Amino acid sequence: MKTHQFEVLVVGAGGAGLMAGLYASRTASTAIITKLYPTRSHTGTAQGGIGAALGSVEEDHPEWHTYDTVKGSDYLGDQDAIEFMCNEAVQAIYELEHMGLPFDRTPEGKISQRPFGGHTNNVTGKPVSRACHAADRTGHMILQTLYQQCIKNNVTFYDEFQVVDLLMVNGAAAGVVAIELASGEMHLFHAKTVIFATGGHGRIWEITSNAYAFSGDGPAITMRRGLPLEDMEFFQFHPTGIYKLGILITEGVRGEGGILINGLGERFMERYAPTVKDLASRDVISRAIYLEIRDGRGVNGQNYVYLDVRPESVNKYAALDGRKNPDGSPFVVTGEQILAKLPDIVDFCRVYLGVDPVTQLMPIQPTAHYAMGGIPTNKYGEVISNEENTTVPGLYAAGEVACVSVHGANRLGTNSLLDLVVFGKYAGLRAAEFAKGAAYQPLPADPAAFARAQFDQFLTADGKENAFDIAREMKKVMFDDMGIFRSGQGMQNALEKIRELQARFKHVRVTDTGKIFNMELINAWELGNLLDLAEVTTVSALARTESRGGHSREDYPDRDDKKWLKHTMAYLRENGRIELKYKPVVITKYQPKERTY
Ligand SMILES: Cc1cc2nc3c(=O)[nH]c(=O)nc-3n(C[C@H](O)[C@H](O)[C@H](O)COP(=O)(O)OP(=O)(O)OC[C@H]3O[C@@H](n4cnc5c(N)ncnc54)[C@H](O)[C@@H]3O)c2cc1C
Repeated sequence: MKTHQFEVLVVGAGGAGLMAGLYASRTASTAIITKLYPTRSHTGTAQGGIGAALGSVEEDHPEWHTYDTVKGSDYLGDQDAIEFMCNEAVQAIYELEHMGLPFDRTPEGKISQRPFGGHTNNVTGKPVSRACHAADRTGHMILQTLYQQCIKNNVTFYDEFQVVDLLMVNGAAAGVVAIELASGEMHLFHAKTVIFATGGHGRIWEITSNAYAFSGDGPAITMRRGLPLEDMEFFQFHPTGIYKLGILITEGVRGEGGILINGLGERFMERYAPTVKDLASRDVISRAIYLEIRDGRGVNGQNYVYLDVRPESVNKYAALDGRKNPDGSPFVVTGEQILAKLPDIVDFCRVYLGVDPVTQLMPIQPTAHYAMGGIPTNKYGEVISNEENTTVPGLYAAGEVACVSVHGANRLGTNSLLDLVVFGKYAGLRAAEFAKGAAYQPLPADPAAFARAQFDQFLTADGKENAFDIAREMKKVMFDDMGIFRSGQGMQNALEKIRELQARFKHVRVTDTGKIFNMELINAWELGNLLDLAEVTTVSALARTESRGGHSREDYPDRDDKKWLKHTMAYLRENGRIELKYKPVVITKYQPKERTY
């Protein structure tokens, strides 16, 4: 087996992985392994913006950003980590700017900012402009900028290598096993430190904004190695996906003045969030859309409502809301301005829907979007192995795969891109520092044995089952019973179905026995990851008998701080069962209170 050795190994080349690799490579030998070509990572699809209280266009403070994030998290976020992220945010944006990221500008040349859901002026409660953006291609620009910086810093890249196992020796990270997709060969990467930055797992659900690559490889791998997963029951549904397709329409559309209307032509968010209306947090708006549809106020009785960004509507509602420009003049937009600020959104709608958002309404429905839960870490990206926050030597995680936890039960828009650059940076710095004082762990006799066993199964199984059927059934039951609203009975049904699918999965046989880009084999392994994460998500959700953030139960509609102000830690035990434990939420300044918008 081909073997490589690096002090720092980063798995994943999205925003978090590139930032980690960039910082680690300043002092340690560093490689980034990625199953996709780096600039195809999901970060490249992020549209609306990255949050930081720069105060470019109106008064703002990191403390307001901190409070909004705590409130948005429905008080489940760890407040020390949130404060750290929001204070680091301003510096992080200027750093990206100095690396060459082409942010949009205000007429005076400052970095342009726009409003986003849940971000407010803490004095008036009104939306505040906190999202820094490069048109509606912010993630694309971050990814390109960081990739160029990594190339400049001589980071070694292993593109189109799929990591399939983590090696742990003496309780510490020792490297990874990966498959080179072009040859099908297994490679061994021996390392002093490993940083997981593999992104999310939103392909569990039927309607999703997530890329095909979001198969949860990172958490599935670490869970099989005995490490816990934190708060997996919390998954965010974004209110505005393109009807039936799930493709995301950024919240930036509402930041630019777009509004939601139901089948009766009502601006229904006035009823659910009287102060911030269409800019309430995502969990609140997704539930409102669901209820409108359930009560028969979808458009034409169908499962969708409209998003309206036609200039005449924007201007009408901006006047009713008394919205002003920073200089005090009334807020008015033209079709050209919509086109300039949201070019990709206009394009998506024209291509996928045949609808022109400047003159027509966009049919939308909530879409599975973001994993709040994941591999538990502290605020330096160090992975935690238990409820006492004990760190695992040499193991790190950052980005959507990690649970720091800064997003708690519900993430605010723009805070993920921020999370990537802040915690990616610290994970990279910490890993490089650790590597300096650490030796390479000795490797086990047959390091690839566990990985090989997982793949051999697909070549020897009896072939009675088909992976596509299993994937389809998983996505459907998770969308129906583990979606925006949940109930004990529905979740129990989902769990039984997932366990049945896991049993059927053992019979899946891959028909392509070739070695070169055998994506049938790789996709089968990825489906196993999704099934395992669907099970953990459902088990964690069933136990939590309350509603909080993205976890909304019809049988337990209230938040229950007495019993449930705590993080779930889920472990896969050797007998195949999932065991749940809990750890306290870190509360510093903000005592939990009722959330109103
Ligand atoms: C459509 C869309 C729009 C969004 N818009 C915004 C926004 O405007 N603002 C905001 O803050 N957030 C936004 N988000 C959320 C945010 O973009 C993501 O959470 C974030 O980009 C994830 O970054 P990451 O670095 O963690 O992972 P990714 O960018 O997804 O990168 C994951 C990397 O891991 C690699 N990888 C995965 N598994 C393996 C494996 N087994 N072996 C090797 N490599 C592997 C992949 O190749 C890839 O390079 C959006 C998300 C979506 C889906």
